[in-house]
Amino acid sequence: MTVATVASRALAGIDAPEVTVEVHLGPGLPAFHIVGLPDAEVREARDRVRAALNHAHFEFPARRITVNLAPAELPKDSSRFDLPIALGILGASGQLAADSLQGQEFAGELSLTGELRPVRGALAMALAARGVGRAFVLPEGNAPQAALAEGARILPARTLLEVVAHLSEEARLAEYAGTPPARSPAYPDFSDVKGQQQVKRALEVAAAGGHSLLMVGPPGTGKSMLAARFPGILPALSEAEALEVAAVHSVSSAGFDALRWGERPFRAPHHSASSAALVGGGNLPRPGEISLAHHGILFLDELPEFDRDVLEALREPLESGRISIARAARQAQFPARFQLVAAMNPCPCGHCGDRSGRCRCTPERIARYRGRISGPLADRIDIKLEVPPPRETELTAALAGESSERIRARVEAARERQRARQGKPNALLGTREIDRHCGTDREGDQLLRHALARLLLSARAYHRVLRVARTIADLSARSSIAAEHIAEAIQYRRLDASF
Ligand SMILES: [Zn+2]
Repeated sequence: MTVATVASRALAGIDAPEVTVEVHLGPGLPAFHIVGLPDAEVREARDRVRAALNHAHFEFPARRITVNLAPAELPKDSSRFDLPIALGILGASGQLAADSLQGQEFAGELSLTGELRPVRGALAMALAARGVGRAFVLPEGNAPQAALAEGARILPARTLLEVVAHLSEEARLAEYAGTPPARSPAYPDFSDVKGQQQVKRALEVAAAGGHSLLMVGPPGTGKSMLAARFPGILPALSEAEALEVAAVHSVSSAGFDALRWGERPFRAPHHSASSAALVGGGNLPRPGEISLAHHGILFLDELPEFDRDVLEALREPLESGRISIARAARQAQFPARFQLVAAMNPCPCGHCGDRSGRCRCTPERIARYRGRISGPLADRIDIKLEVPPPRETELTAALAGESSERIRARVEAARERQRARQGKPNALLGTREIDRHCGTDREGDQLLRHALARLLLSARAYHRVLRVARTIADLSARSSIAAEHIAEAIQYRRLDASF
């Protein structure tokens, strides 16, 4: 046998398409070529595979070795293919029965002494291997993450020798039996925040309907503290959502920590972060902050300070829940169905409108500052509200605020109404669905038309007010939208005039 094939997987977005590693041994001067990898990585892969085979006292064939990673057009970061390449060489040179390699998939980086090191994207690979009914042999360190794919057959190994012993049936690898960690995420609690009843109400509405939200207020009013508590009033992630979150994180540079299984992401990138860090990118495209916030919260503090390109790039995912990254010849798509929670000062110095009279910002400066958030983006933020400095009496009151658990119970009831009625949160209703599900009475309709004219709101805003009003009605367990619900929803658009 001078040819062997081994199944492995690459990463594309959060998918793990199959890669076939073909190893040919041919006549001629000894050589070792790897086709299908970026040049810079070929040398390192060759060195690791050769050293690992020698260290384990296998014979490194003195033949012309050609390794082909197919299909060629897939992006491939090399180290994951060390194990399949080494096994392919053993199979092609008859040191391992080539048919023992069938029916299983392999990935893992080799150390020079033949130990297996974890690779990126274990969960995505395990999900894909499960889909075709194959067992997956991978480094022990990857097993807890891969095992989140329930029903996947995960065979963890520590060394190349263990894998060879398994394939030659000397000592079979044991299937990973660890269970996914219990899901009991701990978020900071709303009961820590005194006062700010109106802001808490707006956050509850945002949580109940999946609406994006912007808080405008001077520094020190607790905007960040309120935002950090937002994930704790959202419903628990479903199994499918938790898997998607883990899959996105598993392909990021930081990887996925299995201990955070079931936690709603809360990402709060600084405004100085680069566009690539936020949107995603790189030679082998990796998800950015907006994708790492998938099914969770993207908190952007000091919104006008973000790069304009970044702010504009938010529009696509806010509409579609995905982001496309085009980079040279390669393109990748990542999910990005995040809930945007943003905060900003009312003016560049932060004190516009407060009683101290400290603000010296001119109206032009204030307009320029707010103008950094373009109309189309501002339009897509359903709820905008002012966060005033808390009153003295609120801060000294001994009364603790309502707990996140109690707020979450109301949010979950409202979400359940939406699920039963239309199968999705109100924030995602299309125009036609709004016509069907967001009917209001005469009084409500008049109120809305009057407000639109008075506040000079766009036609898009009309639908957005209705979506929010629908959520407010759901929170009061009402099947139709009444004027009082419309009135509250209009309050959340009053700031529109200043953008
Ligand atoms: Zn100012």
